[in-house]
Amino acid sequence: MAIIRKKGIFAGVKLPENKITEEEPVKRLPLPQKVIIPIQQNIGAPCQFIVKRGNEVKVGQKIAQSDKFVSAPIHSPVSGKVSKSTKLVNPATGALLDAITIDSDGQDQWVDLDSILKIEDIDSWEDALAEIDRIPPKKALEKIKEAGIVGLGGATFPTHVKLSPPPEKKIDTFILNGCECEPFITSDHRIMLEYGQHVLLGLQIIKKILNPSRLYVAIEDNKPDAIAHMNKLLEQMGLDEVDVVSLPSRYPMGAEKTLIKTILGRVVPMGGLPMDVGVVVNNVATSKAVAEAVLEGKPLIEKVVTVTGLFGEPQNLLARIGTPISALVSHCKLRERDQYHIILGGPMMGLPISDLQFPVNKGLNCVLIKEGYADDEQNCIKCARCIAACPMDLMPLKYPELVKNSAYSQCSEYYIANCIECGSCAFVCPAHIPIVGYIKTGKKKLAEK
Ligand code: SF4
Ligand code: SF4
Repeated sequence: MAIIRKKGIFAGVKLPENKITEEEPVKRLPLPQKVIIPIQQNIGAPCQFIVKRGNEVKVGQKIAQSDKFVSAPIHSPVSGKVSKSTKLVNPATGALLDAITIDSDGQDQWVDLDSILKIEDIDSWEDALAEIDRIPPKKALEKIKEAGIVGLGGATFPTHVKLSPPPEKKIDTFILNGCECEPFITSDHRIMLEYGQHVLLGLQIIKKILNPSRLYVAIEDNKPDAIAHMNKLLEQMGLDEVDVVSLPSRYPMGAEKTLIKTILGRVVPMGGLPMDVGVVVNNVATSKAVAEAVLEGKPLIEKVVTVTGLFGEPQNLLARIGTPISALVSHCKLRERDQYHIILGGPMMGLPISDLQFPVNKGLNCVLIKEGYADDEQNCIKCARCIAACPMDLMPLKYPELVKNSAYSQCSEYYIANCIECGSCAFVCPAHIPIVGYIKTGKKKLAEK
């Protein structure tokens, strides 16, 4: 076990961090009176609801599922009654999304959980790690799948799929991602400080499933307290085989491909996945959820969300999935402003919404309220700053031009599919061109062909 300090080897940009909630401990948001559950909360196959209007449900009861492998079931975050079916606008696509509303009875009655041990009650790490050692990897994977866990850093790819690489893809390295490189967001930072044991128990479970020879916890150097804390916990738990890697705070360090390139010097091929270079990456919140699912039998029904920006009291809140954003906003006291934008996620990759009834979902890690400003897109001056900033070595300036001319197939020739939509190009663009918007349109048009 060691702290390895790495220098950056990718482009990207240095951003103002604005981590105004980094010292705010996670507080539990009071139970919502109702939750709104969208049917699509993972990348892959959508679920089907298995409850209907009038049904009584308990916390943790499965309410939606799919028979497809690349999917993750959804569980009720409250006890109460299904009161209606509804539609929501998906902020990522603009399409309508089926949803149900569950009225909470305020009782918080849970289903019986298939618990092996309670993490808070552990008094011997040796015994807890021995317990993990006795769990067959297949059983652990099944519990992760049944708990509905997806990538909680925002990607929402089902975790049981990520942890089941095909036999020909030999995984030699696992990276636990605690970078959290987007400005403003501090939920993962607080999770490492306050739920570090959960995170590292999850790491041990993942290690048991993947059996990699190298394990890293990757944290940016703007979180020295998290680096020290994770290292101390690793020592206390006797996890000698895990190294903490301190990385330069540079956006988008937390993107899987930049992380792999920086730590291992391996380049994920164009259109490829981390498993193509022998690596699996999971974020720290996902690892916490893995430990809670496998050890405590707890399905994914809540998550830590940073509520920040123009708030009187910006905070990190543990909120039930399905809680309307309006409940988080009023809890943190929105400051009076004539014009503001509500962003789900950070300022670089987040999505604007106008409907405050839109709920917390599995992929949400931040609600950001920013001052409004007028768009003032100008002509490209061919300064090439976007090329210098792109962590994927693309030519971002090409996409607006090609999309405006409907030359979508040429976007493929410029490897548009390899864009991770990090927004670094748009951030540095002096002409204020919303390059990522053009990229999204280009990708959508190509997918429709
Ligand atoms: S082209 Fe894509 S990957 Fe490159 S900087 Fe822009 S958004 Fe990021
Ligand atoms: S940064 Fe903006 S203005 Fe400069 S080349 Fe790229 S798109 Fe054009």
